Amino acid sequence: MRLDEPIETLKGVGPKGAEKFRAAGILTVKDLIYNLPRTYQDFSKVVSIAKIKPGNVSLRVRVAEVRGRRLRRSLHISEAVLEDDSGKLRAVWFNQPYRVAQLDSGGEFLMSGEYGFWRDRYQLMNPGVEKASELPLRSGHILPTYRETKGLKSYMIRRVMARLRPLIVMIPESLPSGLLAGLSLPSLSEALLALHFPTNLSDIEVAKRRLAYEELLIMQLGSLLNKQENAALKSWRILFDEPAAKAFVAALPFKLTDSQRAAAWQIIKDLDAPRPMTRLLQGDVGSGKTVVAGMAAFMAARAGFQTAFLAPTEILARQHADTLYRLLEPFGIEVALLVGSLKPAAKDLLKRQIVGGSVAVTVGTHALLTGDTRFKKLGLVVVDEQHRFGVAQRRALLKKSSRLPHLLTMTATPIPRSLALTLYGELDISLLKQKPAGRQTVITRICSPNSRDPIYKTALSEIAAGHSIYVVCPAINEGGDSNEIKNVENEIARLRLSPLKNCRIGQLHGQMKPADKEAAIAAFALGKLDLLVATSVVEVGVDVPRASVMVVEGAERFGLAQLHQLRGRVGRSDRQSYCFLVPSTSAAPGRRLREVALSDDGFYLAEADLKLRGPGEVYGQAQHGRLPLRFADLTDANLVGRARSAARRFLSQTPDDLLKYQQLNRQVEYFRHLTSLN
Ligand code: ADP
Ligand code: MG
Repeated sequence: MRLDEPIETLKGVGPKGAEKFRAAGILTVKDLIYNLPRTYQDFSKVVSIAKIKPGNVSLRVRVAEVRGRRLRRSLHISEAVLEDDSGKLRAVWFNQPYRVAQLDSGGEFLMSGEYGFWRDRYQLMNPGVEKASELPLRSGHILPTYRETKGLKSYMIRRVMARLRPLIVMIPESLPSGLLAGLSLPSLSEALLALHFPTNLSDIEVAKRRLAYEELLIMQLGSLLNKQENAALKSWRILFDEPAAKAFVAALPFKLTDSQRAAAWQIIKDLDAPRPMTRLLQGDVGSGKTVVAGMAAFMAARAGFQTAFLAPTEILARQHADTLYRLLEPFGIEVALLVGSLKPAAKDLLKRQIVGGSVAVTVGTHALLTGDTRFKKLGLVVVDEQHRFGVAQRRALLKKSSRLPHLLTMTATPIPRSLALTLYGELDISLLKQKPAGRQTVITRICSPNSRDPIYKTALSEIAAGHSIYVVCPAINEGGDSNEIKNVENEIARLRLSPLKNCRIGQLHGQMKPADKEAAIAAFALGKLDLLVATSVVEVGVDVPRASVMVVEGAERFGLAQLHQLRGRVGRSDRQSYCFLVPSTSAAPGRRLREVALSDDGFYLAEADLKLRGPGEVYGQAQHGRLPLRFADLTDANLVGRARSAARRFLSQTPDDLLKYQQLNRQVEYFRHLTSLN
């Protein structure tokens, strides 16, 4: 028997059975072996009814009586009287009407579940049920339960699996010994045996850890290899010009924070090297990343290199172009904005200037990535809010130069360290831990939709003091369709009936023309509007220091990181700022809102978000849709660390062994491709 044989060659499967397996995505023997149990039922300590105590128990029983009934519309209960030679016992299942037929079929059953108190008496509650006659002969008493599909039940899978035991024993090790040394983890075949034929619960945990470790290794090996490859690539050396750097810093309207200095210094050193920089600049909202990137663009321009500066939205691109213009123009450095809404003639002219080399810094959105934008000497690529860009887009940009430009990516959604090491193992990371001096914590309140008076009061006094206010409402409606215009209009209508009715109110949403958006933001930034009613288009990066109040309507519909980003739109000056989170109903606010109200620390909130939703939800979709993870928990810093140091040791000592382990090698290559920046 071989691993790649089709499932029907197995004895006892047959053409009909094979059809069911195929429908569940199991085509080969190998698929079957890697179709690991979903959960386990613990029958390892079967007690007799006479000796039962409250808590989790396993029993071997017959069914004396069983009936089902509906207590309420939403509650069906199945009740049974169970017996063994020592006595009788009641059991109850909630909303599992199929139990009646199952239990009526007679014979002995193994049941495992909680013996607890319900409706005046102790009963067995919602136990798992297995027909004794359907259990594998040599069952180790801990019973694996597989994902069931139509017609394919767990007991059928267990029966076939029992025949595969000798084959699993022979499965060769997937990891070179150098990668397993000193970790007291089981071999692959031991792990698979423990998962399919467990004898105790702790073996299952150890086996899962082994598989998780293997997944993390694949990621670590992949990113370390990418990093090695990157180090072997050629880039332009951008020489450090110390007097120029000093002049730049001296011309700033503020003093750089220590974090900004440290990050700038790391970047300057990276640029002054013949291999391409791949650095991630992480900082909480408002920590001042733009000026650090601006300094890098400045160094590049002084040395005769061009910079492409990418932003996720046109609003942000315009804002960055303004900022960079103010920073760089005094030094005679040309800054241009290339966005989709430019007139064709203007766009063509600008593109000619870029390829001719007269424009040193080009700021843009995705339009910068289209094939016909060429550079004369692209030395640096800055990507702001990099989680908005896919790997493919970054690659497209990096192809625009005969050598590889240096790459600086920036993110305002802090990522916990263990996760950063796993997901961005090949990136060097700079952290902006501090906010600029004098910044005050934004006062954050959760406010019931029935009592907005505190909001109006704060808003009126802030407006009187010459400050401005954001009111953000969700882009999505109850029904799920996007109706941002209506949401914005309704909000404005409500404000017109409120104590804020005499204020100057503007609007900003995704359906507006770029020029209108630009005009709205500009008017708001200049203080010509008191209130800007917007959808989450203002979420990322918008920098209007005079704004001091952020009101988020329908707050429960925003994610934790999103709320923190929105709040980050205020508190950008030394003035006290306020954030009001207003849920749609007056029900008790959820955990997310409470976390945001309690903490103003993006790194803490990132950890909290990760705990609440898991890494797949938080980081999966956006950038790593196909991470090969089934067992690994990216937040398990300990195991991530072990995998990283084992991978590092392995690559420095016996890298060629990787070629001998084809499957591992293939997975590593796949992962490298998934995250490679080149
Ligand atoms: P983010 O890290 O969120 O992108 P920005 O780069 O937009 O932050 O900077 C936020 C604001 O702080 C900007 O108005 C910027 O001019 C200002 N700023 C940046 N660094 C400092 C500093 N060291 N001292 C005072 N203000 C600063
Ligand atoms: Mg920013």
